[in-house]
Amino acid sequence: MDDCLFCKIIKGEVPSTKVYEDDLVYAFKDIEPMAPVHYLVIPKEHIESAAKITSENSAVIAHIYEVIAKIAKDEGLDDGFRVVNNCGEIAGQTVFHIHFHLLAGRKLEWPAG
Ligand code: 5GP
Ligand code: ZN
Repeated sequence: MDDCLFCKIIKGEVPSTKVYEDDLVYAFKDIEPMAPVHYLVIPKEHIESAAKITSENSAVIAHIYEVIAKIAKDEGLDDGFRVVNNCGEIAGQTVFHIHFHLLAGRKLEWPAG
């Protein structure tokens, strides 16, 4: 997707602070962190949102959760963390390349607004 911000980040056309990368997944620091730890974990394949997950592309989503567990272990997030996926405008999705927020480092209130 030529006009997708996160596709541009994956290609290095827009700078980002990398946290993790493999053949399928890229993780980087959110530009406006809402917690001491706030990373975005995204598939390299352009999937618009959680509403577009199918049996054809769901394997990378499972892999993303493996990556999240690895990042949490490597960074010592032993007190816990939160994974957030906003799907669609009403839920606050602003970038339409599926992404999973990984939040940690402070008490996280629940339910979220
Ligand atoms: P959403 O609101 O779609 O769930 O999350 C989009 C996230 O992307 C926001 O937390 C926002 O701060 C982050 N973001 C937007 N533009 C950029 C950018 O250019 N670089 C980085 N690292 N994060 C961005
Ligand atoms: Zn994209």
